Amino acid sequence: MSKHVYILRERKENGELHLFAANKTDENECRSQQKSICGQMDIEENSRTIFACQPEDRARTQCAKVGRKMCVNCVSHLYMDSI
Ligand SMILES: [Zn+2]
Repeated sequence: MSKHVYILRERKENGELHLFAANKTDENECRSQQKSICGQMDIEENSRTIFACQPEDRARTQCAKVGRKMCVNCVSHLYMDSI
């Protein structure tokens, strides 16, 4: 069972949505990687969290709902076989 989870963040300045891969910790929290999956956004940029620490299948469902501002590169990663 994969421990990979995903965080979706909205960049404040232009409303773009990018996915960050994260690893679950034993304390049932998750630690995000520094850069978004596409590499275009940094975790320290001014942004708000849309969802945090969702497993792959739920991340797919939710990314499909948020629509046009979603980063294509980040989403396509969800449909690849593995990280
Ligand atoms: Zn992206």
